[in-house]
Amino acid sequence: MKCFTCNEKRPQIKRPKTGKPICLDCFYDCFEKEIHHTIITNELFKKGERVCIAASGGKDSTVLAYIMNELNKKYDYGLDLFLLSVDEGIVGYRDDSLETVKKNRDDYGIPLEIVSYKDLYGWTMDEIVKMIGLTNNCTFCGVFRRQALERGATFLKADKVVTGHNADDIAETVLMNLLRGDYHRLTKSVDIITGKEGNMPRVKPFKYTYEKEIVMYAYHKKLVYFSTECIYSPNAYRGYVRELIKDLEAQRPSTVIDIIHSGEKLVIDKNQARAKQQIKRNCSICGFMSSNNVCKACALLEKLSKMKAKKTIEYEEIKTINNTNEKISNVVKIEI
Ligand code: SF4
Ligand code: ZN
Ligand code: ZN
Repeated sequence: MKCFTCNEKRPQIKRPKTGKPICLDCFYDCFEKEIHHTIITNELFKKGERVCIAASGGKDSTVLAYIMNELNKKYDYGLDLFLLSVDEGIVGYRDDSLETVKKNRDDYGIPLEIVSYKDLYGWTMDEIVKMIGLTNNCTFCGVFRRQALERGATFLKADKVVTGHNADDIAETVLMNLLRGDYHRLTKSVDIITGKEGNMPRVKPFKYTYEKEIVMYAYHKKLVYFSTECIYSPNAYRGYVRELIKDLEAQRPSTVIDIIHSGEKLVIDKNQARAKQQIKRNCSICGFMSSNNVCKACALLEKLSKMKAKKTIEYEEIKTINNTNEKISNVVKIEI
């Protein structure tokens, strides 16, 4: 049997996207050209831009860093690339994955900046989970990460942030928003460029790239990535939707792309959804761009402070100084 693409070499894999046998060289070529095509047709970058690659050390962002570096050279995009990582402060997970990002930095020669929740917000995720438990942790983490990326990219004077969201992630998000009736998010979830109305646009060159192909590419190219899941990852709802898509894919292999295409066409009340997104102002607490008077991160931080205060008992301790009648009072705080 011959490779379906070059019709010369012996096929080494079955390509997930097409189901056809293909040799590795043709697979690399098709994979890279398709991402280049997505970048060009959607005008994701302009020559001379400073672009931050959101890097977590996972498979998507590792392949993203590698591909962006390759395509930038091969097609002369003329971009200044940076790796930008967020340290959520999760011991045993993020500290290990950041070591992988440092390896990417050294392997690809791209400068790396790390921003941490502790520095930006005064809390690590470990401390937040200790305070709030494992129910809403990903909501806190998601809001903080989004803002941390924007702050890091602004610090680096970047023009935009590029993220490794792949076709499977996007299909899951579309379906989740559809099932929840969240049309504001549904509108945004298929956008290849988001955050245009704010300071820092985010772009997704892997919008049409299958997760299985990213894994295959990383594996055969021997790219080093971190594959452990976050220790605080419940995300049950996304898990159900992922399983549903996997079941549907077994019946109809084009399910992921079909959902994305449906999401692109099925935009309900687009103007109303966008009008809501466009009202932007500065947060009255931190000054960062926000759609409300107080940004989501500050609102969550306020919530955390209130919870912390509640967990602290204050009482007045009165002591008599030795051999005198003099008394001193002292306010004692105990964290419970
Ligand atoms: Fe943060 Fe949740 Fe992701 Fe862990 S799983 S990194 S807590 S968003
Ligand atoms: Zn071939
Ligand atoms: Zn704020």
